[in-house]
Amino acid sequence: MAKKKVVKQGAAKKKALKRSPKKSPARAPSKRAPKKKSASFRVNRRSKSVKPDASRPISKAKPYDVAPLGAMPPYAGPPLGAHISTAGGAAAAPPRADLIGATAMQIFTKTPNQWKEPSITADEAVVFRTALAASGVKFTTSHDSYLINLASPDPAIRDRSIDSFSREIERCNILHLDALVSHPGNFIDDRASGIARNADGITQALETHPGPTRLLMEGTAGQGTVIGSSFEELADLLNQVPAALRARIGICLDTCHLYSAGYDLVNDFAGVWTRFDDILGLDRLGCLHLNDSKTPFGSHKDRHELIGDGSIGTGPFAKIINEPRLGHVAKVLETPKGDDMVTNDRRMLRMLRGFADANA
Ligand SMILES: [Zn+2]
Ligand SMILES: [Zn+2]
Repeated sequence: MAKKKVVKQGAAKKKALKRSPKKSPARAPSKRAPKKKSASFRVNRRSKSVKPDASRPISKAKPYDVAPLGAMPPYAGPPLGAHISTAGGAAAAPPRADLIGATAMQIFTKTPNQWKEPSITADEAVVFRTALAASGVKFTTSHDSYLINLASPDPAIRDRSIDSFSREIERCNILHLDALVSHPGNFIDDRASGIARNADGITQALETHPGPTRLLMEGTAGQGTVIGSSFEELADLLNQVPAALRARIGICLDTCHLYSAGYDLVNDFAGVWTRFDDILGLDRLGCLHLNDSKTPFGSHKDRHELIGDGSIGTGPFAKIINEPRLGHVAKVLETPKGDDMVTNDRRMLRMLRGFADANA
């Protein structure tokens, strides 16, 4: 649960922010669809009870050659897309993004539940960027490995994590990705020490790997000893990175994590963003992961669900698409893929695009 006492971080935070009306929006109906058997995409590497997505092969068995659903509603907002498979190489991803009409794309640059660190050659990067330029994708981000724990008190795990994180930054830089989304680690022993270790790990990796990719620390659901489930703690983490490097760091928020962490997107939508702006600044928000949640408000669990089928419901997502304060933020689905790699994503993107006021 988010801490109640807010220690304001960052003196330069702008104060002139227009407050949104305090009215609580009516709760959107939250359909609870019967559980369907489908392979799911989950970005949750540290929960012992949840297997990471990479344990379910995204690519091999699941087809992309599925007939389109028809034209998508027009959409003129910021980049909007999904997590896309890089099976066969990074250059395979942009055309796959096109198949679902995505203008934002999240990828893994490696198998996320293995320590093996592939290198990306300059030639491969050129092929990727050529494919990207030929696609409709305007925003690219990687999501880092499930194994990295920069906050670990175990020196061996932490060293390995810093190395793996550094290699991830290298790959992102060579691909010229806009962003790298990274989960804060698990503190295991002591929260304050863990945050300090996490910040130090980020500092070491960024110092030694300058480049164009912006690091986006992702807010977490707050399960176990994970760091970063409150805006205050994310601010604390960022503030322990030297100011010169902090300019390369932003935030990614995941709607499922937010809701599970105790940020009430259903009943206090405007208030959540006002609070974020007060503590971290909306200009630091570089990406939103759009996921409904399989678990109730405040559960501290990270279980993604199709939008409209979970505890959040469609209401907050319609608001996100139309919220002017989020008009600069790329938005990426991490919802279950289903039996093939395109049908669910197309359906989700069609729904989200249809929420735009212009289409009402
Ligand atoms: Zn994540
Ligand atoms: Zn996420």
